[in-house]
Amino acid sequence: MATEFITEPARKVPVLKSVDILVVGGSQSGVAAAVSAKRANTDASVMLVEQNGFLGGQAVGCMVVHWEFREFTNNAGQVIARGIGKEMIKRIVDKGHSDPLFKEWLDGKGPPFKGVPDGRASNDVPLEVEDIKLVLAEMCEEAGVDVLLHARAVNVLPPEKKSGLPAPRGVFVETIGGRYAIKARIIIDCTANADVSFWMGEAKVPKTQVMSMQAYAWIGGVDLEKFVNEGVFGKCGGMASYPKDHQQMLDHVHQGKTILTRGFASIIDKACEAEPDLVEQYNKTGASPIINFYVKTVRTKQVECGGETKYIGTFAIEGPSYKWPQTDPLVVSKAEMAQLKAVAAQARIHAYIPGWNLSFLDRTVAAIGFRQTRIPNGVYKLTKDDVLKHKSFEDVVGRHTGHDVGRSTPGGEFGYDIPYRCLVAEKIDGLLFGARSVSVESDDADEHLTALNSHRGISSTMIVGQASGVAAALCIKRGVEPRALDVKALQAELRRQDVVLDKPAGN
Ligand SMILES: Cc1cc2nc3c(=O)[nH]c(=O)nc-3n(C[C@H](O)[C@H](O)[C@H](O)COP(=O)(O)OP(=O)(O)OC[C@H]3O[C@@H](n4cnc5c(N)ncnc54)[C@H](O)[C@@H]3O)c2cc1C
Repeated sequence: MATEFITEPARKVPVLKSVDILVVGGSQSGVAAAVSAKRANTDASVMLVEQNGFLGGQAVGCMVVHWEFREFTNNAGQVIARGIGKEMIKRIVDKGHSDPLFKEWLDGKGPPFKGVPDGRASNDVPLEVEDIKLVLAEMCEEAGVDVLLHARAVNVLPPEKKSGLPAPRGVFVETIGGRYAIKARIIIDCTANADVSFWMGEAKVPKTQVMSMQAYAWIGGVDLEKFVNEGVFGKCGGMASYPKDHQQMLDHVHQGKTILTRGFASIIDKACEAEPDLVEQYNKTGASPIINFYVKTVRTKQVECGGETKYIGTFAIEGPSYKWPQTDPLVVSKAEMAQLKAVAAQARIHAYIPGWNLSFLDRTVAAIGFRQTRIPNGVYKLTKDDVLKHKSFEDVVGRHTGHDVGRSTPGGEFGYDIPYRCLVAEKIDGLLFGARSVSVESDDADEHLTALNSHRGISSTMIVGQASGVAAALCIKRGVEPRALDVKALQAELRRQDVVLDKPAGN
């Protein structure tokens, strides 16, 4: 912690823009918020500011391309969510480069939701990362959202108090052209770190470190048939997770569908024998001591060579994870530097798997992926019980199965209601929450941070993005603050925008 402080001199800052709605953070959630706001109120001016030079946040920068359709249609075939999230997936899949299993799902043909090995098949089907980036940009452009990239919001404008509670009517951004102010009536915080609430003194960092930050890596140049025949179904200790059957897995390879495998313990032994320093190098980076051979294809290329057809795969590997505090810049920097070395060591170990001998490190993350940062203070805090007991709320604005929780808890896939009050700041006007950081109970109430963990799936970030976008649009139309918005009107517009608010029958 700092012991020395400097007072920043006051200065005049030029106003870049004055808008009705300002979305801070441009992931799939920020885009859902901005586009849904425009669709609900075409007269409202909407701006989206993003610190990166691209839209997509962690989904693109950390290659989290597995937008789980389990969270839209659960394993019993019940519809849990649709809305803009499903529309985004459809548009990404329509570009033609994503796993064909996504198309089968969209066409209502499966893959079978029941009896899927350990539920993973509906979690680990990849979308094409370049198409995610492109579709998000296209959707903003079509909707008439003003996008400002390379702009990091750094503070709120001096709060106004006219409405009863302090209201940050805009933010300062740092850009290549210097510091600017952007004025706004309503801010939607899609930073995933509750930055806006933090600047207003209304966000909390849980003390218990439950979730790690983690990096994915992609390894390309794998001979898939050799890998399946000799690696998974050979004598290397490989295990087929999906599909289970040898011929079915080869069929997946030939059809460009994902394959999921794990195991290969003997490979680590082989790598250590050949290069004794490798595991030590990995461990020295401070990563959690698991080299997890859980690998899944993200791209398959069919190549003709010398009259022979080869199937060359790119795999996503689970990279190193660091159970360290994720709001300390020095700690985060240390993890970023360390993960590069750990991933390099992992790539060399994977090269010992049959079929991987010519593989190469294809892509590493633009930034390590955070799972646990700040929790903003909202009117209601979603609880562990709400999630696990599938609570209903009068002010439901979307439904979600719960990320890891939905996968691992009996009945979890039935889902729970997300109440509007989790998206509304308790002590601040003009502010709504989207993305991963919504109002949930902290570790003083639940040391496992169940609600936080449950909410952090890609699909739930889009659900709350859409809800907060529509809420902001209606607040502008009606001239009210988010806490005074008529929830019935909000629900009616969400339904019009294809959002599922009703529980599936039979539970
Ligand atoms: C390794 C790993 C694997 C995962 N696997 C899965 C999975 O299989 N399925 C799944 O559903 N989920 C998975 N998750 C979780 C999921 O990826 C994230 O929770 C989700 O992507 C978060 O989306 P978000 O919009 O909340 O945040 P982000 O994607 O982080 O978006 C926030 C955006 O705001 C921008 N931003 C932040 N602060 C500012 C600022 N001050 N000014 C301007 N811009 C700002 C950021 O640049 C970013 O674009 C995984 C996470 C990790 C780390």
